[in-house]
Amino acid sequence: MIRKAIRQNQNAKIIVTGCYAQSNYQDLKKIEGISLITGNNEKNIILKQIDKLNINHTVIKVKPVKYLRKFDNIFKGEISLHTRAWVKIQDGCNKFCSYCKVPYARGPARSRLIEDILKEISNLNSREVKEVVLLGINLGTYGKDMFDKKVSLSKLISLISNFEEIKRIRLSSIELDDINDELIDVFIKYPKLCHHLHIPLQSGDDKILKLMNRPYTTSVFKNKISQIMRKIPDIAITTDIMVGFPREDVQSFNNTYNFVKKIGFAKIHIFPYSDREKCLATLFPDKVDQKIKKDRRNKLLNLSKELSCNFQKKYIGLTANILIENEIKSKEGRLYSKGSTDNYIKVLIPDLTGKRGELVKVQLYKPHPDYIISKILPKI
Ligand code: SF4
Repeated sequence: MIRKAIRQNQNAKIIVTGCYAQSNYQDLKKIEGISLITGNNEKNIILKQIDKLNINHTVIKVKPVKYLRKFDNIFKGEISLHTRAWVKIQDGCNKFCSYCKVPYARGPARSRLIEDILKEISNLNSREVKEVVLLGINLGTYGKDMFDKKVSLSKLISLISNFEEIKRIRLSSIELDDINDELIDVFIKYPKLCHHLHIPLQSGDDKILKLMNRPYTTSVFKNKISQIMRKIPDIAITTDIMVGFPREDVQSFNNTYNFVKKIGFAKIHIFPYSDREKCLATLFPDKVDQKIKKDRRNKLLNLSKELSCNFQKKYIGLTANILIENEIKSKEGRLYSKGSTDNYIKVLIPDLTGKRGELVKVQLYKPHPDYIISKILPKI
């Protein structure tokens, strides 16, 4: 992709950043045409570096620092002006799943200071941002590396709940083994916490889960999901699935397919397996053919559509609170306000009857691919 970008954009500055730049600096250095290579921790200086590139027409290659042991607070006071803001609270991972390069590229799990996070949230609150999404490579480990044992994800959510203008708090992806009773109870105690959990399953087959070095079996996964759903019945649970992991035979894939269907996820993100340098799985025999991976991915994509549709159907005719995020125009030229429920159903309201940033009550009445059409209910 990098070479293609260079070929197709001969007058452009090509900048490579992220985990690959972090871990494969030496390989990237050999590619002619890259103007800047910069690791994860220097992303916030990219604009300054671009200025230098424009003036001097030089090529800069910032050797990425391997990784930091402490949380690198790259927030420098910039403020998002969107309805929803993403707030990074954690970095790194200690789990070493056999297919994943993140622990090598991002380093060990580390948490951002709670005071820094609250300062950023306070800024967002004063700009009337309505929803914050808490981000981390391994979000559920937040606080576990800190001396103060009272710091935890649950505690952080309780503190963010006190900000008046912040109406919603959403969690990004979280690992199953980090979801404990305390966190499940927080969903009930703090209504601002959105009823949505993205829990990566990766495979619905115990043999493959073991090879992946995932710390659960399908039965542990199923029991935890049942416990969550019993306590929070309207929660949307979405997931990631990897297809074509080495030794995934027809039986293993069918087990995954059936398990995903049985759990009834609200949506699935599907990724085909590929070898990653340094990862144990690259040494595994019985690699799966590309075409088979593609077929399996397509089968799961169809299942994901079916499951999303089933999840949405349960809400037709009901009312829900929507946060209006932006506007879209349909192919026919009709304008809609676009928003989402707290359990992440995407909603369209015809003719821009809702304003951006507004929290409104709507009736969900008509399914539409990817959305439910709704109408705003009058305030009581
Ligand atoms: S898949 Fe997630 S939990 Fe596993 S090593 Fe990668 S980042 Fe960590």
